Parts: sequence; C-alpha cells; structure tokens
Amino acid sequence: MKLSERAKNTPPSGIRRFFELAEEMDDVISLGVGEPDFSAPWKARAAAIHSLERGRTSYTTNRGMLELREAIATHVLRYGLEYDPESEILVTTGASEAVDLALRALVDPGDAVAVQSPAYISYGPGVRFSGGDPLPVSTRAENDFVLTYDDLERAGAADAEVLMICYPNNPTGATASADELADIAAFAREHDLTVLSDEIYAGLTYEGDHTSIATLPGMRERTIVFNGFSKAYAMTGLRLGYALGPSEAIDAMNRIHQYTMLSAPTTAQYAAIEALESCDGDVEDMRTQYDRRRRFVISRFRDMGLECFEATGAFYAFPEAPYDDEQFAEDLLQEEGVAVVPGRVFGEEGYGHLRVSYATGMSDLKEAMNRIERFLGSR
Ligand code: PMP
Repeated sequence: MKLSERAKNTPPSGIRRFFELAEEMDDVISLGVGEPDFSAPWKARAAAIHSLERGRTSYTTNRGMLELREAIATHVLRYGLEYDPESEILVTTGASEAVDLALRALVDPGDAVAVQSPAYISYGPGVRFSGGDPLPVSTRAENDFVLTYDDLERAGAADAEVLMICYPNNPTGATASADELADIAAFAREHDLTVLSDEIYAGLTYEGDHTSIATLPGMRERTIVFNGFSKAYAMTGLRLGYALGPSEAIDAMNRIHQYTMLSAPTTAQYAAIEALESCDGDVEDMRTQYDRRRRFVISRFRDMGLECFEATGAFYAFPEAPYDDEQFAEDLLQEEGVAVVPGRVFGEEGYGHLRVSYATGMSDLKEAMNRIERFLGSR
C-alpha cells in the first residue's frame, strides 16, 4: 500500500515508545502518563448510564447539545469568559479535536505557527497536519517556563500567523499570571497573531485563580480557547472537549467538524452536562489531593538535591535530571522500575528535565520517590 508522506514523516510518540518498555517489566510504578488516576465523578457516570437506558444513542446536533453548550457558557463565566452558546461554542471529541479543527480552520500551507516549547507533544504534528510550519518558541527555566515578549521576539514569532500557548502547562506545570499573559497579549496584538490557548488544565491550579488570555483587552477577538473534561473531571476516555471563540472562527471549525466527526460522543455529552451542573465538589476533592501530592513530590526532589521549580498547575513536576534526561529515565526504569518521561520529548527546552506526573495514588508516589532517592544514592 502506498502511504502518504504525511504519515511516513510522523514519528511515533516519544512517550508511547518509552512506555512500551515499561509494560514489559514487573513492579513498575508509572509517573509517566498524563491522565488522572481517579474515575469520573459518579454522578457524571450515572448520567451517562441513564442516557443509555433512555435509548439516547443518536448523533446530536453538530455543535453539541444546546443544553451542554449552555452549561459550558455558565461554567466558563468563573474565568470571566463570556461566550454565546448558540454561536461561539463548539463541543468536540476531546480538546484534541478542537486543537486540530482550529489549526485546520486557520492555517494555510506554509503559514508559520509559533508554538511555545516545551509543549504538549501533539501540537507540532497537529500544525504539520494542517499544512503549517511549527516555529518553536523556547520558554526558559529562569522564567519558570512562562513565555515572555523577548522569547517571542527572539524566535521570530512576529512573522507567524498563529501562536499556540498552554497554561497551566503540560509538561512543566507552569501557570501564567495576568501580568505575564499581558506581555504575550501585547506581542500578539502588535504582530496581529491569532492565539490558540489550550486551557485544559484550568480547573487544576493550586496558587491563585486561572486567568485566560482571552479576557485581556483586545484579545477576545483574536483568541480561541480550548478546554475539556479529561483532566479536571477525570473523563479522558469519554473523549469530550470544547472550543470557545468568535463566531466566524467557531463556524469555520464547525464546517470541518460536520464532515469529519459529525458530532461529539452523545453519551459523553450527557455525562458532561451533569459534571458541570453538579460535580464541582468532586473536582475540588481531586484538586486538593493533587495539591497535596504536588507539594510532597516537589519537596522530595528538592531534598534529594534536584533543582525543581514550583509548578503551580496541571499534575506535573518538572525537575532537572542529574544527567542526560533520556539516559536517566532509562536507567531509572531499568534499575528501580520507576517510569518518568524525559523532558526532550516535549521539545528542545525540555532537554535536561524530567516530566513526573503526580496523577498517581499517594502510597505509590511515596514508594516511587523512595526508589528515586535510592537510585540517586547509588550513583
Ligand atoms: N492538551 C493538553 C495540554 C493535554 O495535556 C491533553 C491530554 N494529554 C490534551 C490537550 C488532550 O485532551 P483531550 O483528552 O481532551 O483530547
């Protein structure tokens, strides 16, 4: 069979490759995966089951059930985001689909798309699938991995059409304050960039409230915000997300979505309505547990003498590796059965770091940290 150049040129995910190794071993504690160790809140699961019992197994309207879009519009008001459920919200198959649709709706072949780095592994390939050229914009450890005006200028982002950012960030756990976002917003306005803002971890911040760049002056009209149910609501397998944006952008995305996906999963939409309407308490419980683990992991790394910046969002710590990150991750896995992800898979700025997910129960987390300490002591 003849395969497309696109498929042939797409490398396997650096994370997957690593975890295939781990799967062959016994007694491995994985701090590698980017997904909650919790199940979705029971009320959300019950709503999904109930919808099936009532036989609700058809497609929904392309944009997603209006009741869900209304619940999303109400939910995002907590971040100061005001969007019309009729025309400015699109329900998608995970935030992943929303990112893909936005890129395909905005990017022409050859357009440069500035992508904050280190970044979630899907952005680069997603830009390429849209025909665009990814332009990595390195954030710096000394700025706690928050993008600055200087970073953008130095990388030549002024010539890009689109800028892709993500706070709270995967893989670093960095969050960005309103002041820091204002710097990025100023650059976007001056150089007429459209901003794609992946805010899927908005519900998982531990110091202060989440701020969306779309709420800053002059930004709403040039920003598309992504969010979803995978992280804060622990609903990864239900595959539900959404995009918020000006109606012309949402219309353009829906034009592609109606042919490629038709509608997001119906059962998941019922679960999501319930999640938004009655599961704030469950989210708060999970957030509190993540926060306890976050403090524990960061302080253990620091006690071991590893540089570890104060990650304040998502569920990742991003310590410095004591030597080559890929070799370290491999040695740690082989010798102590602890899986972490080498920072380099998230882009050049990730070199020398490790992504350590604390979406793992406290007892496994304690054992993993003991093993890492023993491993470092044996070197
Ligand atoms: N964006 C980021 C930053 C993520 O970490 C993930 C999940 N790993 C996604 C998007 C995809 O989320 P979804 O399950 O909603 O497609």
